[in-house]
Amino acid sequence: MTSNISSPAFLDSSRPDTPDLVVPQGVVPFYLDQRPVRGRLVRPSVLTDTLLTRHDNPDAVLQLAGEALALVAALASSLKFHGSFSLQAKGDGPVSLLVADCTDSGALRFHARSDDEQVAALLRTTPNPTAGELLGKGYIAFSVDQGPDTDIHQGIVEMTGESLSDMATHYFATSEQHACWVRLFCGKTEQGWRAGALVMEKIATAGGIETTLSAEQGDDAWETATTLATTLSAREVLDDRLSSADLLYRLFHAEGLIVGQPRALAFGCRCSRARLSGLLETFSLDDLDHMAKEGTISMNCSFCNHSFHFQRDEISGKVA
Ligand SMILES: [Zn+2]
Repeated sequence: MTSNISSPAFLDSSRPDTPDLVVPQGVVPFYLDQRPVRGRLVRPSVLTDTLLTRHDNPDAVLQLAGEALALVAALASSLKFHGSFSLQAKGDGPVSLLVADCTDSGALRFHARSDDEQVAALLRTTPNPTAGELLGKGYIAFSVDQGPDTDIHQGIVEMTGESLSDMATHYFATSEQHACWVRLFCGKTEQGWRAGALVMEKIATAGGIETTLSAEQGDDAWETATTLATTLSAREVLDDRLSSADLLYRLFHAEGLIVGQPRALAFGCRCSRARLSGLLETFSLDDLDHMAKEGTISMNCSFCNHSFHFQRDEISGKVA
């Protein structure tokens, strides 16, 4: 795309040819009537393939990224906030950085930095590596960013050689007041990459819901719900022909299932020419001259992999 090279930087209409893709029923919330259980089934469907295939990471890394996308979509949709909810994993493994985030309106994106040779070496000994084996020793942070002039709320958990589901469960076990149950799915189907998440929370019966159950009956209801939830298979979750409402019905129809209003998920990169030119303006003249090739500075968005091109003389740079 070269036609926009001379556009002024503030014209964001020249923004990427990234897909304008919305999956209307990406998140389906539910609760179990008279039981202290609520949850969400997340299935970004074709959006998963669109997000993952814009990156050239190895498949094992894309699979982990797909799980991370489903997880942040599930967690973002359970919070009341304006801004973005993000997961950031940093470790000493073949994948040194994994970032996935979801805005309050369901806009999703991710970025993974991996050493392909190290990933290949790991796959030779471990064909199906866990998140912990890919990421190595390090930390995973969950944070809510509500924009400038607000505090970033962050929780951090150590990575422990487990699945991303286990890490998320561990995080919630230590940071939240209530029990959580998390399962993540991602795989390549005949339709392309698909991902999913089933997340449930045990809500305190004192938390405002009307229930006639005793504490013990509430514990039993939670136990039953999590036992039923474990029967959900990857094959079901990743199959677009099955609706989320149908999958939930299969699991919980005898448990007072009430399905809420679905929420949309969308392709959500927030990069723009304006933002990147703003970034370029912070560089010194020397740096800018160094970055320019035949008078053009090219920058790649690490989230959507879109290339932006700027004429060197469009950018003033920082005068020392
Ligand atoms: Zn982007």
